[in-house]
Amino acid sequence: MYVPLVHEAFATWAAPFPALRFKFVDRPEAADIRVQWEHYFKENAWGLAYCPILYKDSKGKMRHRSIIYLAVNAQPGSGMSVHEPVPFSYYELLAIAKHEVGHALGLGHSKGDGDLMGPQGYGYLSKSVFQASPRDIQTLLRLYSLPRKLKRNPCTT
Ligand SMILES: [Zn+2]
Repeated sequence: MYVPLVHEAFATWAAPFPALRFKFVDRPEAADIRVQWEHYFKENAWGLAYCPILYKDSKGKMRHRSIIYLAVNAQPGSGMSVHEPVPFSYYELLAIAKHEVGHALGLGHSKGDGDLMGPQGYGYLSKSVFQASPRDIQTLLRLYSLPRKLKRNPCTT
């Protein structure tokens, strides 16, 4: 179920932008955004993604690279479980994946409770925020409208 889940998470971010396409590859070294799976996180997190790093590929084209870490279980003491890891449901994991894809694209946390990138940590799981909000979309649009030299480190958090 994990491959379709990741495809759906990326599709959420591509849907508002007809020109944005994600190409899925089988070799991690060929990917600009890699997804790595964990049993559960030891720290208090349900997902993690690095903000993109700008680099020049072998053809001299500027590209972004990032890594997303997703856990299939909530760790003990995380609020979803007390003593042992508890598997996330498909929709919980999908919501986490969508949030982490936002970070991998360069978005930090927003101030809107209805945003995928909202400040509520993973509160979006209980609020059923499953689509990019108008604020998420506008932030991504503005981020990628910035001059290239400012996009070298697009994340502020
Ligand atoms: Zn986050």
